[in-house]
Amino acid sequence: MESSQTSHAPRYRFAPSPTGALHIGGARTALYNWLLARGSGGTFVLRIEDTDRERSTPENVEQILDALRYLELDWDEGPLSQYERRERHREAIARMVETGDAYYDPATSADVREWKKAHGGAGYRGEARKEPVGAVRLRVPDEGETVVDDAIRGEVRFENRTQDDFVIARGDGTPLYNLAVAVDDADMGITDVVRGDDHLSNTPKQLLVLKALGTEPPRYTHLPLLHSPGGGKLSKREAAASVQELRDEGYLPAAVRNYLALLGWGTEDDTTLISTEELIERFSIERVGRSPAVFDARKLRWMNGRYMRELPLDEYERRLAEHLRGRSEPDAAVFEAAAPQLRRTACEIVRDKAQTLDEAWPLIRFLFAKPVDDPAAWDRVMKPDVRELLAQALDALRRTDGFSPESVEAALSPIPERSGKEPKDVYQPIRVAITGTTVSPGIFDSLAALGREESVRRIEAALSRLDA
Ligand code: GLU
Repeated sequence: MESSQTSHAPRYRFAPSPTGALHIGGARTALYNWLLARGSGGTFVLRIEDTDRERSTPENVEQILDALRYLELDWDEGPLSQYERRERHREAIARMVETGDAYYDPATSADVREWKKAHGGAGYRGEARKEPVGAVRLRVPDEGETVVDDAIRGEVRFENRTQDDFVIARGDGTPLYNLAVAVDDADMGITDVVRGDDHLSNTPKQLLVLKALGTEPPRYTHLPLLHSPGGGKLSKREAAASVQELRDEGYLPAAVRNYLALLGWGTEDDTTLISTEELIERFSIERVGRSPAVFDARKLRWMNGRYMRELPLDEYERRLAEHLRGRSEPDAAVFEAAAPQLRRTACEIVRDKAQTLDEAWPLIRFLFAKPVDDPAAWDRVMKPDVRELLAQALDALRRTDGFSPESVEAALSPIPERSGKEPKDVYQPIRVAITGTTVSPGIFDSLAALGREESVRRIEAALSRLDA
């Protein structure tokens, strides 16, 4: 009984062309297919459409796999190479010539242009030959329509009369794209094709190939394009945001999945923060909108910050260490060599301050290394009149009982009032003294994490520099 159930389980696929890195749009397509497969007990197939031999390099394939691994979108079958199936594609073409569904055509592209000029708006029909001369074309019926029954667009109709008999193999026998995609979808038993809108115009061709193969077509879903927040197509720069860039900038995969899911899909109650488990449960094509989804890098960043704040500390620490290893070996070494308690405290005080892992490290680096040398920050904050305030702070920090954030606060907070200054007039110089910069986690947390001895030493050093 179980096996008959599994044989009806849907089969989804992600079919990237490895011509470059995986970008936002492609990642969304991959995620949607993965969510649908995981939510239905179906199968997620990864097929690499590498028939363009010039642009499909092993490095590009590796980049895509790497991006999917980072996003934690695991596949059940594959990666299958479309190019390696070329014999099967040739076989399918030969069969179609045999049955008369396709034919050889000696016409050159100039001949085709000529023919079309002479025949008004009609789709090209070649001089059908059975013997191998020229390209192979699939025969398109003269009458009727090819109808794409799209889950989002509804029925999209293409008049057969205006469709060219299209080339499925070049003169040298090389199988072409629409042929390969349709044969692979059929052979792999794909039940659902979910992909970008830009493939809608290929679909009638693929339907005709499937018909020639005698295979039931899959259900089609074409996802609306992505737009910029200002409207209009996603700008080159935004669209170029590759998944690897997001990883390098320290985005958490769970946050990226959450964000990508909302690019075109949403819950009835417009929930923004949705765990992956919940996405698997709730995601459905019915709730994918028809209008272009808006990619807003700032919202992604905000969302990532929310996920960062929710991370358990040990995971935060593990992810930060991993991130640093990818970014800078020396920084990673410094972080990993530090005392476990210091690493933990650093993560604790920065956790709600950084929106990405990349942002976290500069904020806590001072705990593991000497203050950075930032002359602009120094000049802006360390005016002659801060000398007296720093001296008072130093004195208070030397004498306070204990060195917890609370005792540090109790020691320092009377100083602004006593000297008729704003709190920031006192705390910014201390911050520059201990970190070298003007940004850090809360000043009491920062001092407490650094400890009395080192805090005192750095403030003393700042005072000497002011005196010099
Ligand atoms: N290989 C195509 C692409 O990367 C996708 C084809 C498909 O999903 O059918 O755009």
